Amino acid sequence: MNPLDILKRTPKTNCGECGYPACLAFAANVARSGEDPEKCPYINLEGLDMSAQEKTGLEEKGREHDLQLIQHLKEKIAPMDLSNAAQPLGAFWSPKDSDILSFPYLGQKVQLGKKNIFLDGREPEDPRDQILLYNYVHSGGGREPDGNWIGLESLPNSISKIRTLKVYCEDRLADLFTGKTTQDIISLCNRIPSRLDNESSASVAVFFQVLPMLPQYILFWKEEPEDGFAAKVKILFDHHVLDFLDLESLVFSAERLTDRLSFLADCNS
Ligand code: SF4
Repeated sequence: MNPLDILKRTPKTNCGECGYPACLAFAANVARSGEDPEKCPYINLEGLDMSAQEKTGLEEKGREHDLQLIQHLKEKIAPMDLSNAAQPLGAFWSPKDSDILSFPYLGQKVQLGKKNIFLDGREPEDPRDQILLYNYVHSGGGREPDGNWIGLESLPNSISKIRTLKVYCEDRLADLFTGKTTQDIISLCNRIPSRLDNESSASVAVFFQVLPMLPQYILFWKEEPEDGFAAKVKILFDHHVLDFLDLESLVFSAERLTDRLSFLADCNS
């Protein structure tokens, strides 16, 4: 597939909602790196008859791109002294396994080495988990979370990610929680390391520990049909969050939290 074939199907407004600064960059990544064309909410895919071979080719390119990024991140952390990195990241390090850091990730046990990562003893299926975890370690830590919460829109250069967070996380969570009792939502959230906020005016408000230094605060308001309000979720981050993750991985971490809650809800039903 040619990038120009994709570009023609976008409105060419360079709005950035797909996560790319311009439609051309998005089109090039769809054609060459296996980016999901549906990340542009305005794209017209009608009549785009991608053969199974083309779809597989795109998926392979996407995977290849992720694997190259993992390799690059491994090279970046290779010179790091993990014993020094452990404390600022809230990780555990032991001289017995001097090339391994251990820490929790959404209730799973991460063992991150300079060559491999294991999640609950298995290699992560999705390479994006590895990208997120290597990025976290590569940050080397920073200012600890201090309870000052902000929306993604308050972080620099985040405009292109706001819609991604809304569509892939906040709207999905609002759908997931709608129809459940408050107690059921709390029980679901409790299956991941989390703490209820009893002071909030939201219907349910929960602090999740995604990574040791990466809390996320989820607020859920139930729908109020009499007042015309639909159910809504807002995800907030600590104001120092970019000390630990870049924006791309940050939004992916919220997506992973959403995936995990959806998975646990499915297991319950
Ligand atoms: S979402 Fe991306 S591809 Fe779609 S119009 Fe906006 S910048 Fe262009």
